[in-house]
Amino acid sequence: MRTWFFSAKQVIWCLLTCLAVGIYLGTGSELPLPVLREATLPAISGLTIVIDPGHGGDDPGAVSVKGDLEKDITLAIAEELEYLLRKAAVFAVVVRRGDYDLADSSETNLLKRKRQDLDRRVALAKEAQADLFISIHANFFPSPIWYGAQTFYYPGRPEDERLAKAIQAELVRHLGPNKRQALPGDFRVLREAGMPAVLIEVGFLSNPKEAALLSERGYQKRVAAAIFDGILRYYSAANSL
Ligand SMILES: [Zn+2]
Repeated sequence: MRTWFFSAKQVIWCLLTCLAVGIYLGTGSELPLPVLREATLPAISGLTIVIDPGHGGDDPGAVSVKGDLEKDITLAIAEELEYLLRKAAVFAVVVRRGDYDLADSSETNLLKRKRQDLDRRVALAKEAQADLFISIHANFFPSPIWYGAQTFYYPGRPEDERLAKAIQAELVRHLGPNKRQALPGDFRVLREAGMPAVLIEVGFLSNPKEAALLSERGYQKRVAAAIFDGILRYYSAANSL
């Protein structure tokens, strides 16, 4: 005789399926990544995107306890992002390609040097008539407990905010649990850019675990892929952020 009782295994499978469908529907009109890529790649081809790997030369940026330098990590991620953008037929301009800054070598005043360096990064983006300006940095805090990537935009600029939120959503999705949200920030390069601009702190070099990850090529590629997908999401017509 046929029985209508379900096995525990069947019940668990049913619950898991319902949960998965619920999570998917709960994401609203956010497109799954493969669909997003297929739908949006043609829309970004032909764009000019400037990538700004933070620091360089005499300015190492933040330094982890093990001696990992922010300037090396930002350059490595910038190169990975450039590779992904070029593959998508985007004209990617990286403002520095090695261990140097953009200030005059004759300028010895550190403050003036820093200002000149930052202004020249922005000037390159303006010259290139860039569609977006993406600045890459790594964070540092006196306490080692903080972790997680975070994206900043200049306050009061809705397009910049939308770009920052799209990138932040992908950083969280690609890199794992992270409750950080896109936030306004008064950074010189964002203020002066003149096009949608964001500054991404890709993680905390003060957190030993995250510092070790950020120094791995594989993780750097994952960060770059997250930023790339964030840019796609920004240009996606179905953007629900
Ligand atoms: Zn920095």
